[in-house]
Amino acid sequence: MVDADIYREPTPEEKKDFVDLRSKKSKNVLTKFVEKLKDAEFEYNQARRPFCYRCADLDFKKQYQDKLSQLENTYGEDIQKTITIDVDKIDLKQYANPKAFKFGKWVNNVFKSNKIRVASKKKAVVNGVATEIQYGWTYNLTCQKKGCGIALDILFRDEAAFLKDMGMEEKERDKLLLDNPEHQAMLKEQRLTAVKQQ
Ligand SMILES: [Zn+2]
Repeated sequence: MVDADIYREPTPEEKKDFVDLRSKKSKNVLTKFVEKLKDAEFEYNQARRPFCYRCADLDFKKQYQDKLSQLENTYGEDIQKTITIDVDKIDLKQYANPKAFKFGKWVNNVFKSNKIRVASKKKAVVNGVATEIQYGWTYNLTCQKKGCGIALDILFRDEAAFLKDMGMEEKERDKLLLDNPEHQAMLKEQRLTAVKQQ
């Protein structure tokens, strides 16, 4: 089969005014940003903090598209030949601000479910019997900026700190933590120690 995609290298004379939108540099900006996004998502997950991958991605794509339009509109003039965005300088912290998230699952600003969390379970064998055990909760969060839904897996041992970081009031937190066996065991231990010390 004949290759239908015929592409001629521009002559050096043409190259002077040539804007190669497929240039390696432009592509590298996108690839580099996706890598940065994935790293950030992983790190925030490890720190049990919500991170809106979608918003960060959309904002970047808009910035990229704007630059692309600029290039296209000024084609042939004395302009930069490639899209330059300093990926290292992009601050992703704003997409991990706990205040930017609400508990619960919202879709396009419509509340879809009153379940702010569901049990996280894993398969296990207890006394020779295959079963599922709960190790924590998956919290449903919604990013306030664009209504993106986020599910965050929280271990029992991290739940108290997570809810506090998210700015939940103590009364609300205590109510949820009643269903956290590890937290309740820790409170019991603390009470016993306090009694012994009296
Ligand atoms: Zn978002």
